Amino acid sequence: MELLTVSGLRKQYGSHAAVNGLDFQIQTGRCVALLGPNGAGKTTTLRMLAGLLKPSSGQISWNEQVGHVRDPRQIIGYLPQMPVFYPWMSGQEFLNYVGQLANLSAKEAESRTADVLVQVGLKDAAKRKIGGYSGGMKQRLGLAQALVHRPKLLMMDEPVSALDPIGRREVLDLIQAIRQETTILFSTHVLHDAEEVCDDVLIMNKGQIAIKGDLNTVRKEYQSPV
Ligand code: ATP
Repeated sequence: MELLTVSGLRKQYGSHAAVNGLDFQIQTGRCVALLGPNGAGKTTTLRMLAGLLKPSSGQISWNEQVGHVRDPRQIIGYLPQMPVFYPWMSGQEFLNYVGQLANLSAKEAESRTADVLVQVGLKDAAKRKIGGYSGGMKQRLGLAQALVHRPKLLMMDEPVSALDPIGRREVLDLIQAIRQETTILFSTHVLHDAEEVCDDVLIMNKGQIAIKGDLNTVRKEYQSPV
């Protein structure tokens, strides 16, 4: 069953269409990669889905079982390409804070924080200041903040592009575990990332979807640029 249907989605900047008429669906429980070169329109697409950027035209509709969505941020977890943290906070303080921003009660935020810290492997670092975290730890904290309110859809913008091989492996393993319980959409430049964890692939180029389908279908038609 589809969780999300996107039709005719566009974002225009002056005379340039960053996203130029997207039509696709995301099925509940699937892990979907949004693949494409620099400037293809991946970030713009994710930001529109996350409710952070207003589309110029087109529609984003959620399955009726999700109910009326007033603010997509209630049901989406979003990890931006360069997440911003408060370095003077501990990981635990930060997640509690984000949980309460997502309308969890203080008690729920505390309990969800404890759960996600374990889930992303940061339990032992929970009380340390974020400023002292490594790049890989920050990426896992970014994932934790996107998961703290139990989103229906987890979206990540190039979650592994900036990581070294060990950090990349850790985050891909985490995605593999999270996908057992959450629908996922993440962007990447490289088909190889998608091949490791995804079911379906959307390939974007110049603001449009060039190829879409399950991994096997897409593998036959696409050569990764990197
Ligand atoms: P990358 O892999 O480099 O992050 P991307 O696929 O995420 O690329 P976008 O960041 O969505 O691509 O950008 C798509 C196009 O829209 C690019 O040509 C970009 O220059 C343009 N663009 C994005 N944001 C703006 C903006 N605020 N104003 C004008 N043009 C923009």
